[in-house]
Amino acid sequence: MKNPYLDLHTSGRPELAKLAWRYFQNISHGDLPRWLKTIDKLPKGDGYRQLDHAAPRLGRPVDQPALFRQQLLDLHPWRKGPMELGGVRIDTEWRSDWKWQRLEPKLDLNGKEILDIGCGNGYFGLRMLAAGARLVVGIDPTIVFVMQWLAMQKLCPGLSNFVLPMGVEDLPADIEGFDRVFSMGVLYHRRRPVEHLEQLKQLTRPGGQVVVETLVLEDEGKEVLTPPGRYARMRNVHAVPSLAVLGDWLKKAGLTNMQVLDISKTTTDEQRSTEWMTFESLRECLDENNPGLTVEGHPAPVRAALLIQV
Ligand code: SAH
Repeated sequence: MKNPYLDLHTSGRPELAKLAWRYFQNISHGDLPRWLKTIDKLPKGDGYRQLDHAAPRLGRPVDQPALFRQQLLDLHPWRKGPMELGGVRIDTEWRSDWKWQRLEPKLDLNGKEILDIGCGNGYFGLRMLAAGARLVVGIDPTIVFVMQWLAMQKLCPGLSNFVLPMGVEDLPADIEGFDRVFSMGVLYHRRRPVEHLEQLKQLTRPGGQVVVETLVLEDEGKEVLTPPGRYARMRNVHAVPSLAVLGDWLKKAGLTNMQVLDISKTTTDEQRSTEWMTFESLRECLDENNPGLTVEGHPAPVRAALLIQV
């Protein structure tokens, strides 16, 4: 396997490129050989792309779409999208384009160097490039999403959008800060949320911005839900704060200049099972008699996105 992070070296992040390759070589996942075999067989593109779409297009239409489709399905589950790869439309679990539509008009990404923590397959990175970003470094420890990114890179080499097989805890403390740092859908998975916010601050250049998107409680007041078991069937949801509590956490982390960009209830149109993600999705995680509650009886998911000046 060729090192997929060589271009990251020349994009001014040689330490991260080296680290990413080291983590990549140490991946020990039972499905890795199968995934790499599939990716090896995918047609190599010439860099053709049209990123400025809700479903970014990578690669020209392939010669054998039925086979190609099957190869992409080998990399199931496709959660973040939609996108069009080699002319094949991937209808992912999430309409991530809806989230992006709510946020993008309020962001300035032109010419920026961006870190996207918990980036999944790098879908938002493609949208960030379309918005003028110079470089997007995404990190995500879930290997199948890194494989999806590799497939995308194969179809369209040369994109300045990288997915590193690392968790946020694997980032060295002393790396040079980014202009923009995104943490979307990650905070509630962190056992110590204030530490996560501190780390976001540390990873951002002075004068830069942080975007935090997380589950929140809609009701006013200083409440935090700490689910004893699962939340909407998700394991590892440690805390869902009210906006007031989230504001307190930010202050504790030394982040005082905060603006709420968006608050949205997640709907079963935005997150649902498709042929590209055949596992259960939001519908199965909500109380069938009361869609305002999860199956565990917690408030149904509402997400807030915040913009923070550093
Ligand atoms: N940012 C995307 C994905 C959110 S889902 C969005 O907003 O739609 C949360 C993602 O965080 C998953 O892809 C998961 O693999 C990743 N993740 C889990 N633990 C992580 C960690 N320790 N560091 C960084 N990402 C992590």
